[in-house]
Amino acid sequence: MKRSYVIKPELEKIYPVISHGKGIYLFDQEGKRYIDGCSGAVTVSIGHAVDEVVEAMYAQAKEVSFAYRSHFSSEAVEELGAKLAEWAPGSLNWTFFVSSGSEATETAQKIAIQYWQERGKPTKNRIISRWMSYHGITMGALSMSGHVLRRKRFVPLLEDYPTISAPYPYRKPDGVSLEDYALQCANELETAILRVGPEQVAAFIAEPVIGASGGAVVPPDGYFQRIREICDKYEVLFIADEVMTGIGRTGKAFGIDHWGVVPDMITLGKGMSSGYTPMAATVVSDEIIETIKNGSGLIMAGHTYSANPQSAAVSLAVLKYVEKHSLFEKAAEQGAYLLERLQELAAELPLIGDARGLGMLCGLEFVKDKDTKEPFPLSHNVSGRVIAKAFEKGLLVYPAVGGLEGIAGDSVIIAPPLTITKAEIDELIGLLKGAVESVQQELRQQASI
Ligand code: PMP
Repeated sequence: MKRSYVIKPELEKIYPVISHGKGIYLFDQEGKRYIDGCSGAVTVSIGHAVDEVVEAMYAQAKEVSFAYRSHFSSEAVEELGAKLAEWAPGSLNWTFFVSSGSEATETAQKIAIQYWQERGKPTKNRIISRWMSYHGITMGALSMSGHVLRRKRFVPLLEDYPTISAPYPYRKPDGVSLEDYALQCANELETAILRVGPEQVAAFIAEPVIGASGGAVVPPDGYFQRIREICDKYEVLFIADEVMTGIGRTGKAFGIDHWGVVPDMITLGKGMSSGYTPMAATVVSDEIIETIKNGSGLIMAGHTYSANPQSAAVSLAVLKYVEKHSLFEKAAEQGAYLLERLQELAAELPLIGDARGLGMLCGLEFVKDKDTKEPFPLSHNVSGRVIAKAFEKGLLVYPAVGGLEGIAGDSVIIAPPLTITKAEIDELIGLLKGAVESVQQELRQQASI
């Protein structure tokens, strides 16, 4: 075989070659079957190789795949924009299309800054974010992210934005009620705004449920309601980063819908096209768009592939599939079953400190000591080992290690396609249990050497 020159995540590793997929399963060229227990990168929410999407892809390609957004609109993109406006809360009626989650959050960052410029407040250009967060890999998005492992090498090049802590119920201080904890964490935003000066702050960005840097960390009720109040009080825009949580993943259209809070912008990616095409978006309120329309009239963002008809047609077919098969409701129902089964595992296995989640976005956190919740040193790579063992057994799970050494431990995300059945969840749990047990045994042996 000819030598491969593709740059892979781990340069020395030999990766299996994918052959095909169907529903929740993937198959490699050796014929090995995998349960896609994390929808790839929490992306393939309708499952693999869905005929309707393939047909829509072909139909659009036969007409036209690419027409530049400065020259044309397309039926597909208009219909897609209308569908998102129908689903989005409040007056979030406008969508700016991009091709990745990082582009979506960076576009939101730029629109926030531009909005305040158009309102004659150009000093409002700081974005406040949270330590436990991930908003993307490009420099602007990384500046707003707390994912230590991904930031580390580039810190001198990143914008020095203010950060606050995120509520982390599993590691809440003792003796504080969840309700008070929610308010304490939210009030950190007010402190940060006052410290920097409200005249400097453009926006606050947060994931409704923390994904890659925490492993499905769900905030307590009351947190986002208080965040909204603080943002309103100090004229700070609230950006909900729904790249992972959007389009039904948590059992509602958007994660933030669980708390009845309306953000000023929502960013989307991943499940928006279920991985059938690179597609992402920044959904924006009437107020922001009206302000920019009455000012310069131009949004200063965009990429070559933004709003191309091919990706729009594919994404639209995905959203229609989600609607036709009631996948928001299915995610809520089957997700509750998945969480119940994960909590059973956590009760049984000493390595699992916490099982948590919302809808079909669940996480397991591994600890050295269940009583003290002491995390493993990151050098033990416990979640990495669970992921590798699961892979061996034919199950894919996703890493969620933000790198806050000693503060947050290793976690993994379990987030299968929203279409998964109860029987398939049972099969997934069986494989996961085997993987965690193997790592537990390895760690025990290592400790006794
Ligand atoms: N925001 C969130 C919440 C994410 O989970 C991710 C991807 N893990 C991103 C942004 C970045 O998306 P992408 O990898 O498509 O650039």
